[in-house]
Amino acid sequence: MVFRPVAVWREKERLDGEIVDCLTVILRSKGCRWKRCLMCGYKKDTSEDVTFEDLKRQFEFSLKKLGDARVVKIFTSGSFLDSNEIPPEFRRFVYEKLMGRIDKLIVESRPEFVSDETAKELSEQDFIVEVGIGLETADDFVREVCITKGFRFEDFVRAAKVLKSHGIRVKAYLLLKPPFLSEGEAIRDVLNSIKAVRGLADVVSINPTNVQSGTYLERLWLRGLYRPPWLWSAVEVLKKAKMEAICDPVAYGKSRGPHNCGRCDREVAKAIKEFSLTQDESSFEGLNCRCMKIWERVVELEDYSRIPLALIHV
Ligand SMILES: [Zn+2]
Repeated sequence: MVFRPVAVWREKERLDGEIVDCLTVILRSKGCRWKRCLMCGYKKDTSEDVTFEDLKRQFEFSLKKLGDARVVKIFTSGSFLDSNEIPPEFRRFVYEKLMGRIDKLIVESRPEFVSDETAKELSEQDFIVEVGIGLETADDFVREVCITKGFRFEDFVRAAKVLKSHGIRVKAYLLLKPPFLSEGEAIRDVLNSIKAVRGLADVVSINPTNVQSGTYLERLWLRGLYRPPWLWSAVEVLKKAKMEAICDPVAYGKSRGPHNCGRCDREVAKAIKEFSLTQDESSFEGLNCRCMKIWERVVELEDYSRIPLALIHV
């Protein structure tokens, strides 16, 4: 019996350019049906035997904190639209509880669970609905080989089009610095991905990689073979996004999370969060630290440890 959610808290969120209160709920569910991504440690937040009743209790517990929040985010460490993980009757329970009380609901799903049926269900509610999809990158090689995500860019495109055809907003999660990419490659990968999803996604959420327990990525990191991205790289990507782009750097400043030199991490992360709410580039004005020069050199020089693709003969 699981009566408590993994976590529930209030935070600020953008809604039509306005900054409003948001309730974020992480439900303990059966978890993701795929669960093979190299950086994902969310399995620890799931439980095989979660029932419909458990989910109801978790959600009712969470709603006590709703207050006058106008946005609700429901995350499950999996897919809200996977009926094997989240029974359709629980989704209906959620809609009924939120009807007439909020302006926007944000959920997440892998693309394979987005269908005309699930999109129609979301579109029938009296609030705006946004579905976040963990695309991670528009590059199929990086997604397949460096992340083992298990779907292709065309799968994301299909899902995004289905959602849009039903008037649902689409958020694309992009992973900043999957394993095996240099800092510069990681920045270019995200910028290329943003270009690729423009017109399909209403907003991109840049997720700087953090090292989670029990993952393949953690094994690389423990041997010094992986460094999470610099916060400067996140700033760079947000500045150049040219579309609504948000970022909430998890575990920033820690060696497991996105970090700079230790002196400036807090200030840079704060600016990133402020930009995410305001979309105003002046959030980044005045940021400066000695470590910026090191980051610039890393971006410039790290790729020299590679063989240029043009010189590889197979
Ligand atoms: Zn610094």
